[in-house]
Amino acid sequence: MADQKDSLRAYRSKRDPRRTPEPSGERRRPRRGRRGHPIFVIQKHDASSLHYDFRLEADGVLKSWAVPKGPSTNPKDKRLAVPTEDHPLEYADFEGVIPEGEYGAGTVLVWDTGTYRNLTERDGKEVPVEQAIEEGHLRFELHGSKLRGPYALTRIGGPGRQRWLLVKMAGEGADPNRDPVGSEPNSVLSGRGLEEIAAEAAGQGASR
Ligand code: MN
Repeated sequence: MADQKDSLRAYRSKRDPRRTPEPSGERRRPRRGRRGHPIFVIQKHDASSLHYDFRLEADGVLKSWAVPKGPSTNPKDKRLAVPTEDHPLEYADFEGVIPEGEYGAGTVLVWDTGTYRNLTERDGKEVPVEQAIEEGHLRFELHGSKLRGPYALTRIGGPGRQRWLLVKMAGEGADPNRDPVGSEPNSVLSGRGLEEIAAEAAGQGASR
């Protein structure tokens, strides 16, 4: 199995730490949420097209998927989730602007974060998250500010075709009448919206 440093090679190769405010991915910082539970984060990313980067802590990194429409609380919705490169754990707090011309250029905010619990089981035994991802199916319970309760991520079309679906499962947090992506657009860390973060970054750039 690749160690976590190897698993961040793709992340580092896409970024020049002198040109982007994002974490370099050089440091290995153990990072766990309250009570030792692994963390999740969903970053709203206004890149060439707006999407939501869904990340789960596993194996010392943030396993990542880009979800164009963002997560839903309606169990009838199936949200496309396209795997992206592993991100370093310290990325979980990142909000700011990736400069024009750089990989992923655009504004990022932390749309939701918290801890999660792995629910993936086979024959009554827990399947570790890393293994569940390799096998193409995982279930987990989110303990976030906006999102709570069970969700599933399932690969469709086999390992060669990298498309997954993110689906809300029945139970806690299931609500077809809620639309948190639309009704709660701002950062859970700072309360700021995309425009505010972009304007502040532009102001800092100008005053330097
Ligand atoms: Mn992104």
